[in-house]
Amino acid sequence: MSKIIIYESELNLIAQHAAHYPDVETGGDLFGLWTYTGNPVIQYVLGAGPDAQRYETAFYQDRAFLETYGAAINTQHALQHLGEWHSHHHLNLRHPSGGDIQTVRNALHTYHLKRFVLCICNLEELVRVDGFVFPSQASAAHPYHGCAWVVLPGASPLRRVIDKALHLRGPKRSDDILWHVEPQTTLEASSATKPTLTAEAWLTTPPGKACFQALYKVIRQTCDDVRLFQQADQDIVLLGRVGDQYLELTFPPDFPAVPYRVAFALEIDSQGRLIQPAPLMPAEAEEQALLEALDDIVQQYYPAPDPQESQP
Ligand SMILES: [Zn+2]
Repeated sequence: MSKIIIYESELNLIAQHAAHYPDVETGGDLFGLWTYTGNPVIQYVLGAGPDAQRYETAFYQDRAFLETYGAAINTQHALQHLGEWHSHHHLNLRHPSGGDIQTVRNALHTYHLKRFVLCICNLEELVRVDGFVFPSQASAAHPYHGCAWVVLPGASPLRRVIDKALHLRGPKRSDDILWHVEPQTTLEASSATKPTLTAEAWLTTPPGKACFQALYKVIRQTCDDVRLFQQADQDIVLLGRVGDQYLELTFPPDFPAVPYRVAFALEIDSQGRLIQPAPLMPAEAEEQALLEALDDIVQQYYPAPDPQESQP
């Protein structure tokens, strides 16, 4: 699963702005850098400009504001425009809407970007923030993937510097945690990535083969319409229908160093790809039990390293 790395201060800003507009969409822009494995590090979040337009189901950033401040942030600190965030307030939609997908695909195309981050907030008990990365190479049927979060404690070192230089107002000081993100992960979880492995490398090893066969067997026993295929980007995909949903397991070429991804959707296209995949599973007991069973199998063949062992 890809990661979004973000400072706590920047999540605070998103949560405070989103909570301030309970009935309309508000939003802004995300600045930072990409790691060499392609994960965004969000170092500065910009809110809405004075001429931004907020509607119940749309948000339009103040373009002049974004251009002026974005250019200043880029010039002074070499931060890149990573993407956008906006609030779905009480729309009860944790993933990008059809309109959001179109907007991002247009931006990828127009500005020749390799990838784009979209963060979406929902006003739940706390402000829930979900993050998505849209790779430019992604298929129309599968335009984005959900990300796990790495929250860096405290304030981004650039927060005060940029606010001061540009006369912008940062998040209000607060001891209350207003945001909720899940799943959370750690920086270390990706450090073992070996980009030189080929797609079948893990499948050619005895544990890889045995692990995959065990997963396949469980999927065959629990799901209907089971399919197995390899994507152009070398991912191995296992698809099945459980209840009225499709479950897709995607094994990246460098699995198990990079964990497999799980997505659900109500429909698939003629290629067997999920339509409007949701990164997070619905809390149905049957699906939860299946995912736990799959995780147990992976653990059995590829146990997570004991953190105690790496301590001196
Ligand atoms: Zn939206």
